[in-house]
Amino acid sequence: MFDCHFHTDLSYCSEGGMTLDFITKSIKELEHIDGIAVTDHSFALYFPEDVAWSWEYMTNSKVYDKFRERGDRNIDAYLTSLEECREQGIVPGLETEIMHDGRFTFDPSFRSRIDILIGSVHALPLTHNLSSSGIFDEWHKNTLQLLNAGIEILGHPFRWISKHIPVSDALIKEIVHEAKLNNVAIEFNSHFEIDTDSRMLDEVLKQDVQLAFSTDSHNTTEIGDFSYQMSILQEKGLEISDFKIFPSL
Ligand SMILES: [Zn+2]
Ligand SMILES: [Zn+2]
Repeated sequence: MFDCHFHTDLSYCSEGGMTLDFITKSIKELEHIDGIAVTDHSFALYFPEDVAWSWEYMTNSKVYDKFRERGDRNIDAYLTSLEECREQGIVPGLETEIMHDGRFTFDPSFRSRIDILIGSVHALPLTHNLSSSGIFDEWHKNTLQLLNAGIEILGHPFRWISKHIPVSDALIKEIVHEAKLNNVAIEFNSHFEIDTDSRMLDEVLKQDVQLAFSTDSHNTTEIGDFSYQMSILQEKGLEISDFKIFPSL
């Protein structure tokens, strides 16, 4: 299996011990793992920790411009270290988001060095005491922007919205359809177990959309652990081979 989503200690959400050395050794030891895309957060490469978690850049991209040179240096070093581990089963990746002005939180000149780009909704502005429809509109706009921005995978597609409002079958159908139109894989993530996962799989299967298996590992015990995904598939009487898996190895 290929793990499409994985964090190292460079991401502020890492719980420690997540070094490239640990990952490459684990790939060698874990027979069922063919490779891992290391996808650290672009916001962790570009911003100091307090700025990163403030999310201010999502609504004020001048913050991004202020830290841009710092970020460019960090992402260059990050991608160089991943490129050096390709032979050991590591694929250079990145997890990113789109700011209010339509830009990613990393410089597009690095895009050609990123094999797997995950676009995710992490934080959206809720400063105006938004109604349910306002929350929905913010999320819907941002998700469609991500799907249109040339990403490979839509990360944890319904995590943010399901925390705020109920997710309808029609919405799942629409987002899966948009993913197909844009040739983007839908992520099946085990770090965040969402109650939309089962319905999302039904649509992915029905619409024949690519499915990405991700542990989204933040700690050393998560590496290679796809037991959540397997249990959901088993419950539904499905197998991995029923899906169009991303990436096709
Ligand atoms: Zn994420
Ligand atoms: Zn992640």
